[in-house]
Amino acid sequence: MTNDAAYEELISRLKRVHVLGTVNSLLGWDEQVNLPPDSADLRAEQLALLAELQHAAASDPRVGELLTLLEGRPGEPAADQKVVLKYGRRDYDRVVKLPPDFVSEKARHSSKAFHAWAECRGRADFAGFAPFIQRHIELAKQEAGYLGYAAAPYDYMIDRNDPGMTAEAVGALFAELKKELVPLMREIVGSRVKARPGVFHGFPVEQQRTFLHAVTERIGFNYRRGRIDVSLHPFCDGSGADLRMTTHFDEHNPLNSLFSAIHETGHGLYEQGIPIERQGTPLGQPVGMAVHESQSRLWENQVARSRAFWRFFEPRFRETFSAQLGAVSSDELYLAVNAVRPTLIRVDADEVTYNLHIILRFEIEKQLFAGTLAVADLPAAWNALAQELLGLTPPNDREGVLQDVHWSGGMFGYFPSYCLGNMMAAQFWYKAQGDLPGLDDDFAKGDFSRLLGWLRRNIHEQGRRYDTRELVRAVTGEALSPKHLLRYLRERYLPLYRG
Ligand code: ZN
Repeated sequence: MTNDAAYEELISRLKRVHVLGTVNSLLGWDEQVNLPPDSADLRAEQLALLAELQHAAASDPRVGELLTLLEGRPGEPAADQKVVLKYGRRDYDRVVKLPPDFVSEKARHSSKAFHAWAECRGRADFAGFAPFIQRHIELAKQEAGYLGYAAAPYDYMIDRNDPGMTAEAVGALFAELKKELVPLMREIVGSRVKARPGVFHGFPVEQQRTFLHAVTERIGFNYRRGRIDVSLHPFCDGSGADLRMTTHFDEHNPLNSLFSAIHETGHGLYEQGIPIERQGTPLGQPVGMAVHESQSRLWENQVARSRAFWRFFEPRFRETFSAQLGAVSSDELYLAVNAVRPTLIRVDADEVTYNLHIILRFEIEKQLFAGTLAVADLPAAWNALAQELLGLTPPNDREGVLQDVHWSGGMFGYFPSYCLGNMMAAQFWYKAQGDLPGLDDDFAKGDFSRLLGWLRRNIHEQGRRYDTRELVRAVTGEALSPKHLLRYLRERYLPLYRG
């Protein structure tokens, strides 16, 4: 067999796994957007079957044979082939070490736990949900054990989401961030300048939908290869060839759905920026969750909370909602866009306090995996940390430990990615501004194409050529550091709040 033929076969097999994954995504999207209430059992069976098929395709011994054959060829492989072999091997080894029974059990448990979470959250009933978390931790440890991480299961969960990262590295970055972020947050929160609460009332959902569609399309989302719908918890799934985003609407908080849609659009732009012909291979896959999050955060925060962005969109926003915005001044609108106020709910948090929500969850997960915190004691630990970091204690578990969907899917080690993504977004942002003078003028004209082009070239089109920290260094010439995020937060918020 020639080198070329073996490589072609490997690529086509990797793409097959990817296509099965997109079917899985679609069923998962439908589950959260459309599923009738009593159809959950069948969906659990469908997802379990899909997981089994995907696992079988990914763990097919032929994939292993092809990898071994190509790895054993004399001479240095071409650069692209090297990336495919490196990550093809990593993914294959991870998948063959997981028994099919384990994979389908985990999928089945995740589906049931999601529905249990939705019900228990509604009743603020942590005790009802506790056994599902407990089982998820057992499954996560079992999985880490299969992959040689029995002694450090939380490192496994982190590396799985962000290749190359460890709990220790994350802990060091978070400690450095927390030291300066807590005083900065106190200074902003203690300011006499405050966003006026309750300035927005009665924004019809249909008009919100139209406006956010126009905004997300203008910044570059391709609606011929994607759509946006409504779900309890906004998310973005699928591939660049068919991207599914969701948001949720509140008539009295139009900025919530708008910014959550811009956030998901940032994820979507990353996927849509990957050349279609490479999708499903390591040359056309995102690096990991933190890099993904850096893309959503950069559009949501650095771009969409800037004065330049609103210079273009404010007149359009006022035109769409003239009745609702008559008494709201430009300064009030801009302050509402950049309101800072500690809240109990992570998804409602501003970009200053958001990182403290993540540090809270990281501390809890670390202790859960170390066995120093029992699941039954989770609400008490959560409430104590919320008081310490945010100065707030949840009145019930719906506004505390039950608020996030992630643990219902066994997604541990995922929360840190949000904060790492914030750090990267700020680091990329300063680099892009250096490379592309006059970005603010572009934004004020409603032109986001130079920034999107820069992100495509430097990040989206790179696929998995670099791991998490290598990519930051390759793009910015520096190691990942929280100092850019701290600089950005100071530059954006201090002038506004020092009044
Ligand atoms: Zn996100």
